[in-house]
Amino acid sequence: MARIVAIVNQKGGVAKTTTAVNLASSLVERGSKVLLIDLDPQGNATSGCGVMKHRLSRCIYDVIINDEDIRNVILDTELKKMKVAPARIELAGAEIELVSLSQRESRLGQAVKEIQNEFDFILIDCPPSLGLLTLNALCAATDVLIPIQCEYYALEGLSLLMNTLDKVRKSLNRELEVLGVLLTMFDARTNLSIQVVDEVKRYFRDKVFRTIIPRNVRLSEAPSHGQPIILYDTKSRGAEVYRDLAEEVLERV
Ligand code: ADP
Ligand code: MG
Repeated sequence: MARIVAIVNQKGGVAKTTTAVNLASSLVERGSKVLLIDLDPQGNATSGCGVMKHRLSRCIYDVIINDEDIRNVILDTELKKMKVAPARIELAGAEIELVSLSQRESRLGQAVKEIQNEFDFILIDCPPSLGLLTLNALCAATDVLIPIQCEYYALEGLSLLMNTLDKVRKSLNRELEVLGVLLTMFDARTNLSIQVVDEVKRYFRDKVFRTIIPRNVRLSEAPSHGQPIILYDTKSRGAEVYRDLAEEVLERV
């Protein structure tokens, strides 16, 4: 049975998508079979895997809103054992359409349950909000991974996120666990980065991954080539650190 990991932080630009694509591919490199579900209407994880969004006839929207079988939207990627359930901009409408549907927070979870035993990991790239799409991810997930950018205001909003996780545990998904907190875009030259690391470690303690993701230009270039970093520049620092993260995730599960 796959571990289902929601990559969540309602802040934008903290490296959710970068982590989703590159953790997925690094786990594949280690032999796991991985499905990446793109739950952000921007579809950045979709294009980051090399999928041409404008050519799609279906996406995860149809699974959540129209009860389409998730198997019918899953696509291959350049890596054999990595599959993607893509998102297109129409997914933005789902946030409103879900409101009037029955079981509006568990629709993704029900779809994913049917394929859970076909993968080792299912990673869900969440949108930058705590709306119904993210709630669907939290209900479907066994675990959450929280990326935090080493920037000013890094901790802002995290107590709201932790409260949301508590509420989900109480009413919708008792089993939900925090797999880990990931520090991203670390810049060793700035005191601010070092302060943020200290602060996050004080707050989350052993939940913080040992692996810290530094700023790395190659990581920011890879999406425009539709490739994860292990394909775009396999020897880069960015590729190395996401391999370390995959290793750590495998230790923790
Ligand atoms: P989110 O999904 O949380 O909005 P993204 O993964 O899209 O965040 O990252 C935001 C921006 O930062 C993107 O342009 C991405 O390429 C860039 N980025 C992410 N991680 C790194 C990193 N370690 N080094 C440099 N740029 C990064
Ligand atoms: Mg994103």
